[in-house]
Amino acid sequence: MRLKRAKAYKKQMAVYVHSFKFKAPFQTLVDADIVIHCYNIKYNILKGLSSTVQGEIKPMITQCCMEQLYKTNDEKLIALGKKFERRRCNHKPAIDADRCIESVTNIDGENKHRYVVATQSERLRKQLRKIPGVPLIYMNPGVMVMEMISKASETHRDQIESAKLTTGLNRTGADADDASAEPQRKRRKVKEPNPLSVKKKHTVKPPTNQGDDDKKPQRRKRGKRKPGDSASQGPEPPAAAATASPTSPSDTATTDSAAIANANEKSAPADDA
Ligand SMILES: [Zn+2]
Repeated sequence: MRLKRAKAYKKQMAVYVHSFKFKAPFQTLVDADIVIHCYNIKYNILKGLSSTVQGEIKPMITQCCMEQLYKTNDEKLIALGKKFERRRCNHKPAIDADRCIESVTNIDGENKHRYVVATQSERLRKQLRKIPGVPLIYMNPGVMVMEMISKASETHRDQIESAKLTTGLNRTGADADDASAEPQRKRRKVKEPNPLSVKKKHTVKPPTNQGDDDKKPQRRKRGKRKPGDSASQGPEPPAAAATASPTSPSDTATTDSAAIANANEKSAPADDA
């Protein structure tokens, strides 16, 4: 594929993705004629379709079109047709390919299943151009071609774009709706539990915790240290006193330890003297 055409197709597919919610793998519906055409000229239809839509495809064929391939009695052609996933159309007996494909593509004026349609029927393509958001592909004799975006599709895209500009990004377009609706719900979910939990923490936990933090460790330290201090360890009491000194209860501790130290110092020289 020439670079220019590849770029044009990429641009077109981007419109289908952004404005019509197409997603890879792109469901690509073929008619029997394009399969036969490609088979006859030994053109790799699957590869061609994938490179035309510039992405992974999910190749599909309706029961009616498959029926058409069976009628050829060409085993290789039938085998090629079987590579496409069968799209159930439930037409019994099989109907005309154009009507069949249109019936599965045009659902109440919309391309509901987001099909890319590859057909050799000019008549069918003309019908599908009226439906917004139907990428159309055909073989122009040895070259696979994607049609320009139809006027119906352009109008629809413009409506979406203008709606985005006028009413804000959050409220327009199917994509925007989905994107905006979910985060809002999530935010509400997050907001509701948070205030409750925060209130509980503020009202109940902090005072008790702080009280515990302030009192319990210090008490424990004092309780443990006091006997330890007086009994054996020399270097620890001054350090504990230095850290605990700003608080009032610790002052007593410092005075106690200081008093003990003073007493020791006094008693020692007194003994010497
Ligand atoms: Zn059918």
